[in-house]
Amino acid sequence: MRKKLIAANWKMYKTPEETRAFFRDFLPLVSGHDRDEIVVCPPYIDLTAAVEVTKNSNVAVGAQNVHWKNEGAFTGEISALMLLSVGVTHVIVGHSERRQYFGETDDTVNLRLKAALESGLTPICCVGEVLEEREAGLTDDVLRRQCVRAFHAISAKKAAKLVVAYEPVWAIGTGKTATPEIVAEAHAVIRREATEVFGEDFAAQLRILYGGSVKPENASALMEKEEIDGALVGGASLDAKSFAAIVKY
Ligand code: PEP
Repeated sequence: MRKKLIAANWKMYKTPEETRAFFRDFLPLVSGHDRDEIVVCPPYIDLTAAVEVTKNSNVAVGAQNVHWKNEGAFTGEISALMLLSVGVTHVIVGHSERRQYFGETDDTVNLRLKAALESGLTPICCVGEVLEEREAGLTDDVLRRQCVRAFHAISAKKAAKLVVAYEPVWAIGTGKTATPEIVAEAHAVIRREATEVFGEDFAAQLRILYGGSVKPENASALMEKEEIDGALVGGASLDAKSFAAIVKY
């Protein structure tokens, strides 16, 4: 049995003060919940506050990106060592908004993924097709390409902590959720690719999350599917009650 992981992606929302206020409400709502792993990924500026207030709780803190070098002249970037130094344990890599708006490529996703794994962070590596690709029947090809390139030159041993999130871009922030059947098909493609690259044993324990307009109303239909190993939640994770309802689907 793979333990499900429910992760919040706050994108560019909340100040440190708002972060503290969120956890004041959220932690009591999920206290004692150990069926699933819970991770919250706020903006960099909030990480220290988030780590401080979640200490000794069942909630881990993740970042939304990581650079592949430890340090250097890379204005605006943050390294894995820096994230570890403030108590961060998880990191999102290759989110479609990074790919769409900030020039993230399959190759930079691979570099970031390697750096996260090398450092001991748990990466949540996002893959997913855009609407035109789905309509052109290219979903499987896109997922295969993104996985092969993201996993390039990473050994199964190094990849032990890898988590993948299937996030169809047409479902992110749009209110359109992929049906459990669409998700299951995509997850099967990703798991096959992981089998090719890392082997059967690895692929059998790999957690593949779904992300794209997950809300309290649709969480249980998705999460009850055995092949969906959790969720990456954007908009609906900004409100403590709403995210707690998703965690406790
Ligand atoms: C996301 O940001 O990864 C996401 C899935 O967003 P939303 O839940 O708002 O669609």
